[in-house]
Amino acid sequence: MSEHKIVLVTGASSGIGEATARRLAADGHHVILGARRVDRLVALVTELKEAGHSAEYAQLDVTDLDNVRAVVTDVLTRHGRIDVLVNNAGVMPLSLVQDLRIDDWNQMIDVNLRGVLHGIAAVLPGMRQRGAGHIVNIASTAANRVDSPGVVYSATKYAVRAVSEGLRQETTDIRVTVISPGLTRTELTQAGGDTQVQGAMRDAVEEVGIDATAIAAAIAYAVGQPADIDVNEIIVRPTASV
Ligand code: NDP
Repeated sequence: MSEHKIVLVTGASSGIGEATARRLAADGHHVILGARRVDRLVALVTELKEAGHSAEYAQLDVTDLDNVRAVVTDVLTRHGRIDVLVNNAGVMPLSLVQDLRIDDWNQMIDVNLRGVLHGIAAVLPGMRQRGAGHIVNIASTAANRVDSPGVVYSATKYAVRAVSEGLRQETTDIRVTVISPGLTRTELTQAGGDTQVQGAMRDAVEEVGIDATAIAAAIAYAVGQPADIDVNEIIVRPTASV
């Protein structure tokens, strides 16, 4: 039986976040599912509870620091601690830089980078006070290599890796993990961006994409290590990826 942890997962209403919530709940942890689409969260929490797992949800927009802080404060009030934050929420409206889709750039910066920083800002004081905690940031293979037309997306994910490594160096009492998925079958390519680019990305995911459970398994591995072992980075990509 694994240690029972209190885990907050952002972007838990679909894809990797949903798979992670399912996996960590099945591993015996208490999961708090955060996202904007509450109907999805309600359905998932109901399903998890019916299966005998421990779960709750919170409406969460990671771009809104006050909202993130309020959710964390509420969890701390009721549970006394957050052991693990999985900073998973993300968006990927892809296009060429030269197309100057500035609203899309800003959305990626707001969700993928500011959202991760907001999560860190909200949980870090409590973790430092306890001298323990684990922050899992979801980056991407795009955090290791820039491929146009994913330039601004890559920039946000490189930044997530940079923040994670800096945080790791600053906080030797906190575990910091970066999980970098490759093409994974989720809803990520379904919204925004250049129509042609997003279509090509959907085709690629359709062709070689792996299941979100593979990413959830990597997260569960890092979470399940003993407290003195800090898994800093895992890349999980389809074997067929170039
Ligand atoms: P999905 O689109 O399936 O899931 C994205 C999640 O993020 C949703 O639950 C969505 O919930 C949430 N989200 C988006 N914006 C916000 C916001 N402002 N506040 C709170 N939650 C938000 O995609 P994935 O599961 O694929 O994406 C999860 C992570 O994995 C992302 O960080 C992505 O960049 C990363 N990733 C994915 C890869 C892939 O191939 N799928 C590859 C590499 C990395 P809601 O809309 O309900 O708020």
